[in-house]
Amino acid sequence: MKNFALIGAAGYIAPRHMAAIKATGNRLVAAYDPFDSVGIIDSHFPEAFFFTEFERFDRHFDKLRRAQSDEAIDYVSICSPNYLHDSHIRFALRSGAHVICEKPLVVNPWNLDAIAQIELETGRKVNSILQLRLHPSIISLREKIRGGTLETKLNVDLTYVTSRGRWYMQSWKGVEKKSGGIMANIGVHFFDMLHFLFGELQESSVHLRHDNRAAGYLEYEHARVRWFLSVEIDDLPEAIRATGQRTYRSILIDGEEFEFSGGFTDLHQRSYEEVLAGHGFGIDDNRQAINTVAAMRRCELTAAGEAHPFVA
Ligand code: NAD
Repeated sequence: MKNFALIGAAGYIAPRHMAAIKATGNRLVAAYDPFDSVGIIDSHFPEAFFFTEFERFDRHFDKLRRAQSDEAIDYVSICSPNYLHDSHIRFALRSGAHVICEKPLVVNPWNLDAIAQIELETGRKVNSILQLRLHPSIISLREKIRGGTLETKLNVDLTYVTSRGRWYMQSWKGVEKKSGGIMANIGVHFFDMLHFLFGELQESSVHLRHDNRAAGYLEYEHARVRWFLSVEIDDLPEAIRATGQRTYRSILIDGEEFEFSGGFTDLHQRSYEEVLAGHGFGIDDNRQAINTVAAMRRCELTAAGEAHPFVA
């Protein structure tokens, strides 16, 4: 049984990590969050220590390590805001633990080199949650694409509208320096998936870039992709909105819908199983998507050439 600590325990995604720690037969021994609304811990690990001050969390962590306690922490799961990930990763590695960190692993590409250096120095591993790479339909599509003999590139339209309330722009998620912006915070899963499916990136342009929506064109070895991301309910197709749904996710490949709406439920648990078996996605697995997004944040907008149909 491995001992876990959790940073960012009061947030939206933290309970999925608690559930995954439990489902894989491990235990949460300590949790930290400056915000103390963490009653959810009782549903999983009521005996875990909880801290609202980093220094007290650090002291506890270090005490367990020095005493070689059977509660000494083996893994730190990181669910804090994106711009804090690299700092929390450094803390965990230097404290002698492996890491399981939420996406995006870091906001800026140069942070990857810094944590890679500390990974080397400490001999501890950084693992990231790239759960779409574990989705069964995505894996089988990849096998088809990579194993087949595609003569021409696939034409792909990726649309992801996941409407958020007004709170979103008031929180760290709406602040580009903290979240990386919509392309990093909402899109990075999909940009990683595109690379995973279609190979190396060859070309990129951005047609639309706002806090609440963005769109562009990406060309990979095996596909030409028009993409659109939004957190605005007004961008939902009318038929979807009429059903009361707040999210629309579509991947059209050569005009045919790629069905992958099911199979999402246990992907955090699957991610933990892979990490614990020594097959976690490491720093280098994150490079392409983080570089892609960082470049898209900086590049000049181009007049729509290969624009997604939602770009007016
Ligand atoms: P959230 O805002 O709900 O939770 C973040 C938590 O971090 C909050 O409880 C906050 O109090 C805490 N926090 C703030 N400053 C901190 C600090 N200095 N030290 C420690 N904790 C601090 O956000 P969320 O939606 O749970 O997102 C957390 C992470 O998970 C983000 O990186 C996000 O991108 C990622 N995420 C991943 C998925 C996925 O499907 N894999 C889904 C949602 C979010």
